Amino acid sequence: MSKPEKLLDKKGLRLDGRKLDELRPIKMEVGILANADGSAYLEQGRNKVLAAVYGPKEVHPKHLALPDRAILRCRYHMAPFSVEERKSPAPSRREIELSKVIRDALEPAVFLEYYPRTSIDIFIEILQADGGTRCAGITTAALALADAGIPMRDLVVACAAGKADGKLILDLMDLEDKYGEADVPLAMMPGINAVTLLQMDGSLTLEEFEKAIEMAMEGCRKIYEVQKEALKAKYVTVKEETEE
Ligand code: ADP
Repeated sequence: MSKPEKLLDKKGLRLDGRKLDELRPIKMEVGILANADGSAYLEQGRNKVLAAVYGPKEVHPKHLALPDRAILRCRYHMAPFSVEERKSPAPSRREIELSKVIRDALEPAVFLEYYPRTSIDIFIEILQADGGTRCAGITTAALALADAGIPMRDLVVACAAGKADGKLILDLMDLEDKYGEADVPLAMMPGINAVTLLQMDGSLTLEEFEKAIEMAMEGCRKIYEVQKEALKAKYVTVKEETEE
């Protein structure tokens, strides 16, 4: 998409009509892949993300196994049709980096010590990308881990804040990410108030940076509520099925 003249209109609204501190519409569902031990699907604005979790299971290759805990592996991948120009399906440097960043954001939540000598594998597939897919990937993967029944300290949830046309904004879409002044993705476990990912691209004053962190955390807390509802919804369905 070409560069828009402005990212904010005269009323201070964004290109998609959102207010500065407004999240994109978001919805989630768990347990949608029968073959995986856990799975989740998320839509956040135009982002569409699928996550599958396999494990805890025997590690292959075996020499990677750890005697005292499970290993957590993560693959973030953008489908070739996820962006306007076909993306090569081969893993890019960006995808390899994001796989590591996402793994590191999720690891503090998982009780890996419960499952020595096993692996827990997370696959994140971006079906449609529109900015903030690392955050959307983390939120979806945490739900898939919970759906797999893997014990966690809390769900991990992620959201970015940033700056466009001189104003701080929440939950950047692709055009804001590309043409804005800054992007601050943040992941946290809201239940125990622990941040597991904090990155920054672009430039902000210290005061703006602190405000952006606050905004991103507020966004995370809202998305956390949707995550919990998605998990509960699955168990309501299970209960209804057993009662039939
Ligand atoms: P994030 O998705 O976490 O914001 P980036 O800042 O690296 O990660 O990417 C921002 C956005 O740029 C992506 O969400 C996607 O919309 C777009 N993008 C990333 N890679 C490509 C690509 N190969 N081709 C076209 N657009 C891309």
